[in-house]
Amino acid sequence: MNIQYLGTAAYEGWPALFCKCEACEEARMAGGRNIRTRSQAVIDGTLLIDMPPDTYYHALTYNIDLSAIGHLLITHSHEDHFYPSDMIAKAEPYAFDGSAPSLQVYGNEAIVKMLEQALDSSGLDDVRKFITPVYLKPFVPVEIGEYVVTPLLADHMPQEKCYIYIIEKDGKRLLYGHDTGVFPEATFEYIKGRRFDLVSLDCTFGPTLWEHGGHMGLPNNLAVKQRMEQMGSADGQTQFVINHFSHNSKVIHDQLVPHAEKHGIITAYDGMMLCV
Ligand SMILES: [Zn+2]
Ligand SMILES: [Zn+2]
Ligand SMILES: [Zn+2]
Repeated sequence: MNIQYLGTAAYEGWPALFCKCEACEEARMAGGRNIRTRSQAVIDGTLLIDMPPDTYYHALTYNIDLSAIGHLLITHSHEDHFYPSDMIAKAEPYAFDGSAPSLQVYGNEAIVKMLEQALDSSGLDDVRKFITPVYLKPFVPVEIGEYVVTPLLADHMPQEKCYIYIIEKDGKRLLYGHDTGVFPEATFEYIKGRRFDLVSLDCTFGPTLWEHGGHMGLPNNLAVKQRMEQMGSADGQTQFVINHFSHNSKVIHDQLVPHAEKHGIITAYDGMMLCV
């Protein structure tokens, strides 16, 4: 399997939409990997994770044929991860491709509800021919295309059961852990003894310890890594990646890389591809 990170920022992007803070100005000056769009990833170019408002830009920049994608996993309903208005563009008369698969959109109850509302209010009679909302239960594995996908509970917001995902294929296993704080106990319990080849962790607060839950910084990521190693879920071969960064962390990509590297952790950037 491979995973490509299409966007690696938190909600506001980095530089942030309307921001002139020092960290945003620094990113504008430095350019390259320091420019981050809203979070999205794709597995093997076929299984899409999240649908931020930057999806259109990602498809153009990384040459992704969105019409060929049949499966979309959504982590939670924050707009940097799910922008339902754009989902309607999958249907005629916004898209014409007779051979394209219908798009199955998987998520929690909130995602299914939001997508149903978007489809109902679209005014398009045939919209359900093109898009199908699919509810996933936490901790229940499902076959999605060539993959086995298991939603686990995140620690992100109390109003909603936000998901992080285990994705498995050909004996390889990865964990896509955005957005979340240090995992809830039920999630640690589920992953106990299951070894991961790649673990991608929320690092909204960059090098700073975050003590309020919902997101993490590098010290929280290290605690998760250590616990996973102790419980047999990770070893020296497991690739740990940090992702989903906010300008409020104040440390742009180029400056964060050495902090993470010291601990054998990879810092994600827009366009980065990793293989397992
Ligand atoms: Zn987010
Ligand atoms: Zn800023
Ligand atoms: Zn969020």
